[in-house]
Amino acid sequence: MEILYNSTRSNRNPVRASEAILKGLSEDGGLFVPDKIPALDKSFEELMQMSYQQVAYEVMKLFLTDFTEQELKACIAKAYDEKFDTKEIAPVKTVEGVHYLELFHGATIAFKDMALSLLPHLLTTAARKNHVTNEIVILTATSGDTGKAALAGFSDVEGTRIVVFYPKNGVSPVQERQMVTQKGGNTYVVGIHGNFDDAQSGVKKIFGDKELAGYMEERGFQFSSANSINIGRLVPQIVYYVYAYVQLLQKKSLKESEKMNVVVPTGNFGNILAAFYAKHMGVPIDRLICASNENKVLYDFFRSGTYDKNREFVLTSSPSMDILISSNLERLIYLIAGKNPDRNRELMEALSNRGVYTITDEMKEKLMDFYGNYASEEETAEAIRGLYERTGYVLDPHTAVALSVYEKYRNETQDHTQALLVSTASPFKFTRSVMKAVDSRYASAEDFALTEKLSEIAGVEIPGAISEIRNAPVLHRHECEKEEMKQTVMNFLGI
Ligand SMILES: *Cc1c(COP(=O)(O)O)cnc(C)c1O
Repeated sequence: MEILYNSTRSNRNPVRASEAILKGLSEDGGLFVPDKIPALDKSFEELMQMSYQQVAYEVMKLFLTDFTEQELKACIAKAYDEKFDTKEIAPVKTVEGVHYLELFHGATIAFKDMALSLLPHLLTTAARKNHVTNEIVILTATSGDTGKAALAGFSDVEGTRIVVFYPKNGVSPVQERQMVTQKGGNTYVVGIHGNFDDAQSGVKKIFGDKELAGYMEERGFQFSSANSINIGRLVPQIVYYVYAYVQLLQKKSLKESEKMNVVVPTGNFGNILAAFYAKHMGVPIDRLICASNENKVLYDFFRSGTYDKNREFVLTSSPSMDILISSNLERLIYLIAGKNPDRNRELMEALSNRGVYTITDEMKEKLMDFYGNYASEEETAEAIRGLYERTGYVLDPHTAVALSVYEKYRNETQDHTQALLVSTASPFKFTRSVMKAVDSRYASAEDFALTEKLSEIAGVEIPGAISEIRNAPVLHRHECEKEEMKQTVMNFLGI
């Protein structure tokens, strides 16, 4: 069964998977969505015999239907290899009855590696399939983790260049250092004077600039995106929900077809949307619990039906979730609008013009599977400290937001369905926030100075991703104003 991809803003020109991956964003500004969500065609019994790589193939073949078996398997083999520090790729750890899906065992120790290890291979394969001879320029806005994961994935990949924009004062010191020490002749890293939403809006504007696209085409370049708006990011993220369910069956934490809830620390709504797709493929998922930090625009949306980004942007200890415009929510809005692109476009235009929109009651009813809540900075720190003191298990601040929200959910609903809590980053990426939560004595120390101490208290070895950047030379020092992003890209390309 062939799956085609429609834009969320028009039904006119459905494209094949490889074209959707190459384009990243549709020309009308919409996001590509599959015209249907395919059902798993392997039983859980069969999936239980498979490795991560094999499960990845079984899931992705259903979405990326114009890739051959050989192409897809080759991409998967190159992505999920020794770059990951565990053979399971995405292991589940059960602590106090909560199942933590650890997605931080890749090269940059955050969950973005799960998709960005694969995307460069999908993209270069897609280029070959579509006879693209242009050099592909990956433009990326990052709230901290995507940037490094994309740089690591695309560094020195032939036929590609990558430009990453990050908020100069909005990422953790470890995140910044990871990016500015990036090697590779095709990489370019720029700190912008603005926040993540500025970076993301700037990138979207460059994508929508038709004149620039023509000018680039004449010079042998074309843009694509490594952000989670690219369907090539979303599809690989569905895999680990299937694989997690299979692991819980294997461990006998779940009985056959028993439902689980998933709890996801959320920013751009990509990860939790992948869980929603997994549910509709047939993974027995009950509630989708959406956890926000103090930038709680999604919590307010699920409660009231009004999405309102007109509010103060808060810098928190979970910077990868410091987002007021959750791009991937558009894919869900399109669905609950009955796949009506006009209805969706009206709402998205309201968002970009006035910063706010309200969905109808009928649409809101279709969101019953979702539960939203948020954790304050104190609650996040308390979640880290409490769990550490009770069990010795140390969470990063993003995952701690999810734990705090999950505790609120359980208190409110008394729902004791087994829960899979998505652990999105290693605590070593946010050393100071984590150590400060554990003991206020560490509040004034610097991130890198606390690495050994964290390793000692958590009983976890220092990840290679940290030791290798501690003394690495800084290779990128560019900064720009948010209005200068287009010019910055052109300078880099020498056009
Ligand atoms: C990106 C990121 C998130 C948010 O994921 P979305 O898919 O944008 O919702 C959460 N935690 C960490 C550590 C991240 O890097």
